[in-house]
Amino acid sequence: MGISLATYPWPEPVIISYNMSMNQRPDVIVAKCAGFCPGVKRAIDRVLELESAGKTPVYTIGPLIHNKQVTDMLAAKQITAIDCPAQAVDKSGILVIRAHGITPQFQAEVQSSGMEVVDATCPLVKHAQNIIEKFANEGYHTVIVGDGDHAEVIGLLGYTHGKGVVVSGPEEAAKLPHFDKVNVVSQTTQKESVFYETAKEVKKHADVCQVSNTICQPTKDRQKETIEQARNADLVIVVGGKHSANTTRLALLCKGLAPAVQHVETETELEAPLVKQARYIFITAGASTPDWVIARVAQRVREIRKGEKNGH
Ligand code: SF4
Repeated sequence: MGISLATYPWPEPVIISYNMSMNQRPDVIVAKCAGFCPGVKRAIDRVLELESAGKTPVYTIGPLIHNKQVTDMLAAKQITAIDCPAQAVDKSGILVIRAHGITPQFQAEVQSSGMEVVDATCPLVKHAQNIIEKFANEGYHTVIVGDGDHAEVIGLLGYTHGKGVVVSGPEEAAKLPHFDKVNVVSQTTQKESVFYETAKEVKKHADVCQVSNTICQPTKDRQKETIEQARNADLVIVVGGKHSANTTRLALLCKGLAPAVQHVETETELEAPLVKQARYIFITAGASTPDWVIARVAQRVREIRKGEKNGH
């Protein structure tokens, strides 16, 4: 029988209770959408299922997630990241394509490696790839609004038939040449306002402009919740790797909404004076942050605030 993230023996989650203010609004709120997104959860579940079925070693094409605690745990189970099939030491192992997806050209190389391949590309990334390919087949150029170094974007570019370009926002879009037909798509984790501002700019550079919002629903939900809650908080604590692009982007988003924002990787980095002073705290996390790391931060926040109430 397989093992899922829900059944995998992560460290015990910390149950937290909140102090309630007079109007019954909790003074500390943990985001409902915080932590692993469904695509990443699904990919981790797949590799844990393979490991539990004895199908090791498992080689993922690139790290499944930018979180050291998780990659260390996976490495202990013979689940490691490589860049290409040639780097697999044991060819009887399994190759796993991660949630970000890869280019069709690289997919063909992986499939012809002779090794067993499991494709864990997130279905929502696949959807973006399909939209790009459909319009590219009709002769459209593609403008991807995103981070050109990100693995998902590199994969998406592979579907543009060589007629794709990546821009980070409207300023870069302003420098684009003129297109006869262009399809504007988004990295799945893009900020929605940046996407639409960029699409507006691209429209000025094309006779025909198709706008395909490929931001995934989990990202939209996360952004909506963040905007609603961060606006009402005195302090936002963003939990996640300092090298995680989506966590850093989330922290930036919050900086424009709340008076104070702290980006921490673990509970040890919390600034006690800030935590004590804030009336309302909103805790959120990037898509690569495990639940138990979020729970520990929330627990430490509660302890710091309890200490304050007890006069420490
Ligand atoms: S498309 Fe959305 S759900 Fe899928 S991996 Fe990307 S962020 Fe996660």
